Amino acid sequence: MPQTTFDTESTVTTHWHDLAARVLDGEQTSAGEALAILNSPDDDLPDLIAAAYRLRRRYFGQTVQLYFLMNAKSGLCAEDCGYCSQSKVSDAEIPTYNFLSAPKLLAGARLAAEQKAKTYCIVISGRAPTEREMNMVTGIIPQIKAQYGLNICACLGLLTAEQAVRLKECGVDKVNHNLNTSERFYPEICSTHTYADRLETLNNVRAAGMQICAGGIIGMGETHDDLVQMALELRALKAESIPLNFLNPVDGTPLAGKREISTRDCLRALCMMRFVNPASELRIAGGRELHLGSLQAMGLYVANSLFIGDYLTTKGQAAEDDYRMIRELGFTVTVADDVPVELPEPRDRAKEKFGVVEQPAQGVLQSPCGE
Ligand code: SF4
Repeated sequence: MPQTTFDTESTVTTHWHDLAARVLDGEQTSAGEALAILNSPDDDLPDLIAAAYRLRRRYFGQTVQLYFLMNAKSGLCAEDCGYCSQSKVSDAEIPTYNFLSAPKLLAGARLAAEQKAKTYCIVISGRAPTEREMNMVTGIIPQIKAQYGLNICACLGLLTAEQAVRLKECGVDKVNHNLNTSERFYPEICSTHTYADRLETLNNVRAAGMQICAGGIIGMGETHDDLVQMALELRALKAESIPLNFLNPVDGTPLAGKREISTRDCLRALCMMRFVNPASELRIAGGRELHLGSLQAMGLYVANSLFIGDYLTTKGQAAEDDYRMIRELGFTVTVADDVPVELPEPRDRAKEKFGVVEQPAQGVLQSPCGE
């Protein structure tokens, strides 16, 4: 019988743990080190994730924070972001509707609270909010906070300094405005606004006293160096929250069919982002199910946050499956003010499958706007 031998010495990598130790001591990960993470071989991945987990554990322990997206206005956007199904250059079949009514936004907040979200994200398509949209947002947010105690993240497009102050005054905790990629690559994905426009909005958010939620998308054709530059920019901005999306190349968008990244690339990108921004909330965002597949749980050893439910125009996996993953990891969901919460009891699918016990079907949570 042929014998297989393994050289265990050469398959154990300690340098990622050395880097983690230095970062835990307060050193910053350099651009070269960040690049080395992205270029590291698959063999290194378990050690790399274990090292990144040490950073996650320092700042977030074994907690997970859930975010709930409400697409409060869909489609009809005159911008040309190549990755986006809501843009004027997209033929993707998506729901299009104008700003949702206050009762629908409140119903969404109730669902977010029921699903144990820490943060309710109100998102509208478009370059920038109109005065009418600003009034609707600033009118509804105090009601949502009073009724459900959720943190609020507003994603309304480009903001002036004055608009940012109004959002702060009505109770918005943070504003999402993604960098999406590096300054160098930005013109390749959008021509109707600039990277500098995005930075200006983020600076207005900070000046108004709100937290910054900013991240990006990987898999659009950018280089590893572009990803590192984006991570370093997010560090310079001191972004409290970083959503990392993995391109879902939706049919009808200019990037349709682009599948350049592997599951391991996605995990390395998460690790790189954690090493460069160790104390920032790191969220596995859109494209999670598509790209990470059965390794989503590995991603949660690095990231500490997920979107629960659906994305803006694409489906997410059932909340029940996310709860199961979090339970099986032994992690705890925390909501606003870091309060830990009990997750709804899951159906035991293994038992159902093997006929051990019959479970009544639980109610399926529906989108409140029916879209
Ligand atoms: S990302 Fe925002 S600004 Fe760009 S096309 Fe989509 S909705 Fe419009």
